[in-house]
Amino acid sequence: MTKGSEGAVIEREKSPAVEVEPVLHETRDRIITAVVTVVPIVAMLAVGWQAWADLLHWSDVAVFAVMYVATGLGITVGFHRYLTHRSFRTSRPLRAVLAILGSAAIEGPVISWVADHRKHHRFSDREGDPHSPHVGHEGGWRGALAGLAHAHLGWLFVHSQRGARLRYAPDLVKDPIVSFVDRTFLLWALGGLAAAFGLGWAIGGTLFAALTGLLWGGGVRMLVVHHVTYSINSLCHFFGRRRFATPDHSRNLLWLALPSFGESWHNNHHAFPTSAFHGLRRWELDPSALVIRALEAVGLVWGVVRIESARQARKAVAETA
Ligand SMILES: [Zn+2]
Ligand SMILES: [Zn+2]
Repeated sequence: MTKGSEGAVIEREKSPAVEVEPVLHETRDRIITAVVTVVPIVAMLAVGWQAWADLLHWSDVAVFAVMYVATGLGITVGFHRYLTHRSFRTSRPLRAVLAILGSAAIEGPVISWVADHRKHHRFSDREGDPHSPHVGHEGGWRGALAGLAHAHLGWLFVHSQRGARLRYAPDLVKDPIVSFVDRTFLLWALGGLAAAFGLGWAIGGTLFAALTGLLWGGGVRMLVVHHVTYSINSLCHFFGRRRFATPDHSRNLLWLALPSFGESWHNNHHAFPTSAFHGLRRWELDPSALVIRALEAVGLVWGVVRIESARQARKAVAETA
């Protein structure tokens, strides 16, 4: 460095004011900046509100809610707690209704769904699990992301570990009601979409309301039900708390309890798969369990499997540590 350039450095350090524009109207400039920042946000919110008010009617919200609850419970109470894990017993008509409602969620034919899920419990987070975020992926954040993507959605495209129907669900293959609903899956899938269309028409009273009912009660409902279900397979084997010492990575994820109708108490579920209740404590919100209790109270289901608290305590992490 030359002497001259050293001098320039010293001069700059000694007099920083030369570099900075003097502030003459700071308050005014701040107000202008605030207005320029806030006005576009307000405009965007106004446009959003306008679009929302024009496009989304209360009939759409109602159709979405009815279809979400019906098909969601079809999966949680029907496909999962009843047909996969036999956590209660019921009559043939209600078995048919549950299998049909679950099919309308469009997560595949009932027997395939059950076979995959029973295989998941058989090999949880080991080689052979159809959708583990922990198997077959390298370490680090790249491996974690790849594992989560596979467990969430990727496994549906990769058919290497699907559960064999005759091996994992022979009881359902033999069941005439369930195998009929399985064979006619497409009918129930389309029936769910037709129901959304019909409900939109009945509530909104116009063809336009029927079409937006189909959009919200069909398309948007499918999207949300699917991704909440997928999140049980991905997020609930990755994030959350572990109360029970299970040989897998299952976890309880509080914030997902309401949208998943109680399925996100997934560590509880892997600890006691046949329990009709996944929320095991008073505060563990489990809407599916409330439905099963209500059906039990009116005599529509019976033989509801409950896990005694002493058995729960024996399996709790604190007890085994
Ligand atoms: Zn699991
Ligand atoms: Zn299960």
